[in-house]
Amino acid sequence: MSQTEIPFTASPVMPETFDGGKKIQFQCKKGIACWNVCCSNIDISLTPYDILRLKQRLDISSTEFLQKYTVPYEMEMDGIAGVKLRPVQEGTACQFMKLEGCSVYEDRPTACRYYPVALLSMRRQDEYVDRDSYALVKEAHCLGHQEPRSLSVDEYRDEQGLGEYDEVARGWRQLILKKKSSGPAVGKPSKRSLQLFFMACYDVDQFRGFVASDGFGEVYEIPDEEKLKLLSDDTALMLFGFRFLRQVLFGEMSIAMREESVEDRRGRLAEKHGRLEREAAERMARDENEMYGDQE
Ligand code: SF4
Ligand code: SF4
Repeated sequence: MSQTEIPFTASPVMPETFDGGKKIQFQCKKGIACWNVCCSNIDISLTPYDILRLKQRLDISSTEFLQKYTVPYEMEMDGIAGVKLRPVQEGTACQFMKLEGCSVYEDRPTACRYYPVALLSMRRQDEYVDRDSYALVKEAHCLGHQEPRSLSVDEYRDEQGLGEYDEVARGWRQLILKKKSSGPAVGKPSKRSLQLFFMACYDVDQFRGFVASDGFGEVYEIPDEEKLKLLSDDTALMLFGFRFLRQVLFGEMSIAMREESVEDRRGRLAEKHGRLEREAAERMARDENEMYGDQE
């Protein structure tokens, strides 16, 4: 257990962080006086796996899901995008909230499952793995904290089916942590790489088209059988997307590239260097002329 630097004094997130063994007192159940209050005023960020589960449940494409049920937001400076649930039109309630409760309960997002626990991913500078720690969110309207049930955070996570959700979204969290911790050293991501990030993380059906395209096949060498499996399995494709982004954003090569395309790239780089050298030589010649030309 450790005290943390959570920076919000007026926040309902309690300032103590802890691991999964910590006991909490909480129960949410039908009939409680605050039923649905938490879903009436939402601020829910989605993981890529949340989107995948919800679009499968609603039997629509990820592109359609994003348009109808989400709003994008900037997760940090330099534009890494996140996606939040879009509330009902001109209101604050979740579109999935019904009188009897959540209409997508079996596929509800990670944040809804965790509540009132907050998952904090941390990465220490001297560690290569991220670690999970937790905090408790205590909001005045939530009466579940007064219910006489005590269980550990690990037990609560099991009850809420969070093992699978966290496992599958781990690659995405690591990408964000890595981007945050590498900061300006990696430089501002290009518009193109931000678009790739958005597509590979949140729009799995569009990403499927991208992976199936001739252009992708000209650059990346994926055995036919593996590619067919990827294209027919949303979760496998999403996990591949995280690998792809590690390669594109951080140069961690795990997907084979075709020899000719590496050669092409080398050729283009050599051409670019040659052009830069020519331009530098021309500029120097011009500067020399300007400096010494009058003296001749
Ligand atoms: S998805 Fe379900 S649990 Fe989550 S805010 Fe909406 S109605 Fe509530
Ligand atoms: S107990 Fe908390 S989580 Fe459950 S319905 Fe009430 S406000 Fe929502």
